Formats: sequence, structure tokens, C-alpha cells
Amino acid sequence: MTKIRVTKMFEFETAHALHNYDGLCRNIHGHTYKLSVTIKGEPITDEESTKLGMVMDFGNLKQIVKPNIVDKFDHSVLLSKKEETEYFEKENKLFKRIHIVDFQPTAENMVIHFAEIIKPLLPENVKLYSIKLHETTNSYAEWYADDQD
Ligand SMILES: [Zn+2]
Repeated sequence: MTKIRVTKMFEFETAHALHNYDGLCRNIHGHTYKLSVTIKGEPITDEESTKLGMVMDFGNLKQIVKPNIVDKFDHSVLLSKKEETEYFEKENKLFKRIHIVDFQPTAENMVIHFAEIIKPLLPENVKLYSIKLHETTNSYAEWYADDQD
């Protein structure tokens, strides 16, 4: 059967800082991240299915990505656990939405993290094909299933 790729795009605003980085990005700053999630599978051929002709309902893909990534990271701060995080973890109204992660919060590591979140939540008949994360208009990182061996 013919395999088709289906992509859904999302957007969220997140602040981060790169621990020990030798440039401006060591300071807390924000991005409007643009995320594209692409899955691959065969369009449903069951004439009785309400999802006839779809690899996966765009709405169902959104139901996976929005609560687990977009809603979680939007308007939050993403920091490496290597930072001095005590200040942010204290009861502080400005940092209610903070994520202390065990990786350097680059776009590269974020797509790896997002792939790990999405993969187990997909139905069996579709596979995660790629994740693309734009940090700026001109800069993005991509995760491809085919690259992971
Ligand atoms: Zn940045």
C-alpha cells in the first residue's frame, strides 16, 4: 500500500538559557518555537470507517501533541539542571512554569525529548517520521526516524 506522511504544525513561546554557552544564549531569553510533527502510515481504506482516507485524523494528532508538549512548554522557562536552579524552584510567582531538564535545552535536544514523548502515544498503525523545531525563522533542528539506528 501507499505510505503517506502527514504533518501538523504548532507554535509556542518558551524561554531558555544554554548552560555554560560561550555567547548571548547563556542568558535567559525567549523564542516563538514552531514545531512540525510528521507521522507516516497508510490511509484508511475501510469504507465504513469515519476516518476513511486518513492516515491519522489531524485532530487526533493535535490531541497528542498539544497537551503533552505545547500546553506544557508554552509560556514556561526551560533550564538545564546544571544551572543554579534554587532561585527558580523557590516559591516564586514569576516562575510557576519552569522545567528543569537533564539536558542542555537546545533545539536539537528538544526534538529528541519531543520524539520520546510522542512515539509511545501514537496508534500502532502510524509511525513518527520526523519532528522539526524552528527556534527562529532561519534556524531549526530536525529529528528523523530514519536517522536513528
Ligand atoms: Zn535560544
